[in-house]
Amino acid sequence: MLTVNAYAATSATDPLVKTTIERRDLGPTDVLIEIAYSGICHSDIHTVRGEWGDIAYPQVVGHEIVGVVTEVGSDVTLHQVGDRVGVGCMVNSCRECENCLAGEENYCLKGNTGTYTAVDRDGTITQGGYSTHIVVVEDFVLRVPESIAFEKAAPLLCAGITTYSPLAHWGAGPGTKVAVVGMGGLGHMAVKIAHAMGAEVTVLSQTLSKKDDGLRLGADHYYATGDTSTFTDLQNSFDLIVNTVSAQIDINAYLKLLRLDGTLVSVGAPPEALPVGVFTLFGNRRSFAGSSIGGIRETQQMLDFCAEHGIAPETELISADQINEAYERVLASDVRYRFVIDIATLA
Ligand code: NAP
Ligand code: ZN
Ligand code: ZN
Repeated sequence: MLTVNAYAATSATDPLVKTTIERRDLGPTDVLIEIAYSGICHSDIHTVRGEWGDIAYPQVVGHEIVGVVTEVGSDVTLHQVGDRVGVGCMVNSCRECENCLAGEENYCLKGNTGTYTAVDRDGTITQGGYSTHIVVVEDFVLRVPESIAFEKAAPLLCAGITTYSPLAHWGAGPGTKVAVVGMGGLGHMAVKIAHAMGAEVTVLSQTLSKKDDGLRLGADHYYATGDTSTFTDLQNSFDLIVNTVSAQIDINAYLKLLRLDGTLVSVGAPPEALPVGVFTLFGNRRSFAGSSIGGIRETQQMLDFCAEHGIAPETELISADQINEAYERVLASDVRYRFVIDIATLA
């Protein structure tokens, strides 16, 4: 066992605190990663605050992880000591259900093993990336292309893949009109990726306060959802809407913005339901869908796509003792556009 420094939640309401946790001894197919940077996803906040259900404390979260391989198990073939690697939202899956066999481990029928709060094979609860080291089985470890700045790479492991996957699945590209609801961590990546795929991109944000940024990051249009005329002006406009909002919104108002055969896919994960009126779906033969991160193969594709197109998130680097403050800023929609923890400050 390796004892490592970490930042953990001790209850749903107390601030996160510095602590130590144990990492398992390296198995034959495991790699040990010295973590360099860890992104802060809104899912970390939903999780530690118990918004998605009760969890066991202390809990270390963080599933946007990049670091360097410092040791490999005897049978490891995919990674070498010194490699720049990443770990996202899952660290294992059953490997034998039809979804795993199709390379969609994120949809493992037995439930993938989450990077945190999941029961690992040895019965322990997985602990995430707000820590100095992590041990992960080699085939759930991604290669981080050299051309992506290391401190920018971490958010791709969740915010990047979670937006890339639905954009690719629903065919964002030249000739399609894509709207992105919410310009936070996921939303700003959706703007960059949809733009790189060739789609015409519209941001739907609560206000126009981030309009200049949105246009700079690749949006063609930018509207405030606080202005009711947005919902009349944009009716029947979009082929695809990606909802990244972390809170409950009136989803029917957004569904009406879809044109014939359009799809609204929600990746935002508020604890509350998003009730849909069937008559809203009847009009324009609309679809309401969800999407959860992406498989390992697709995550590697996304990293390579970002390297090829020079895409990286807008980040604000913080030290570990600023995590609690960063949480408050995320909750206040005051994130520009992803907080990344410099894990060297935890050493
Ligand atoms: P974030 O950085 O906080 O961004 C969310 C954005 O939603 C905010 O920046 C804000 O954008 C908008 N927003 C917040 N509260 C709102 C409200 N009450 N009404 C309308 N808009 C509001 O969060 P994130 O890290 O991008 O995560 C977004 C959501 O996706 C979270 O629920 C997270 O758990 C979920 N998620 C899901 C997956 C998946 O696999 N499906 C993966 C990762 C994250 P504006 O200021 O532009 O309005
Ligand atoms: Zn996430
Ligand atoms: Zn499976």
